[in-house]
Amino acid sequence: MAGSSEKIYSIDTKTLIKVLSNILEVMRTNEKYLTKLDADIGDADHGINMVRGFEKVMELISQQNPEDIGTVLQLTGMGLLQVVGGAAGPLYGMLFLEASKPLKGKKEMTVQDFVSMLEAGLRAVVTTGGGTQPGEKTMVDVLHPVVEKLKKMVSERSDLDFVTVLEEIVPYARECVIKTIPMLAKRGRASYLGERSIGHQDPGATSTYLIIRTFLDTLKGRKGVKISEYDESSGKMLKEEYI
Ligand SMILES: [Mg+2]
Repeated sequence: MAGSSEKIYSIDTKTLIKVLSNILEVMRTNEKYLTKLDADIGDADHGINMVRGFEKVMELISQQNPEDIGTVLQLTGMGLLQVVGGAAGPLYGMLFLEASKPLKGKKEMTVQDFVSMLEAGLRAVVTTGGGTQPGEKTMVDVLHPVVEKLKKMVSERSDLDFVTVLEEIVPYARECVIKTIPMLAKRGRASYLGERSIGHQDPGATSTYLIIRTFLDTLKGRKGVKISEYDESSGKMLKEEYI
């Protein structure tokens, strides 16, 4: 896949497992950064939680050797629910559990399936969060606009391949993360800070972005990125390097 100009119209089970193993690497590489973001407006456990969660996910996958995409996503949700505490566990766990449903029994995921998967995942996050709306400084501030943009893209253009779609979605998701900085937190621990939550980049929105971009990086034969430079006061991502 690396360096190939061949268009990728579907992702198979093996490639999805590769994406998840790269997500684990990305979480390990960015653990301290995610912890810093969560230390500023939460309880400083987002980095370790995401690492533990995806370690468990990879453990379940290697034990059960799932053959279809739906089962891989289901095991991902279960792994995250089992070991991740705080708000992130139930949110990401339910995201992947619901996302698995449209892919049940499928061995290939098309771009349309990818959109359906994220749409189901978003619904789960909104419900689990108790009706989270965009603008409340959460992962919904990335997921919601990304799902809307994806739906628009697939409705306007047929024959879309994964790399074309993700090369448009990834920078957009990144902008959405940056837009959480001036937001007032209305959910979770960060909301206890009130006005003091303003001026900080949301950790959950950041990990959501890293997950989405790891799909693109994996398809391009890379592992993912490390946020190698950030603004100390707001946590704003300034520079990324491939790992
Ligand atoms: Mg936390």
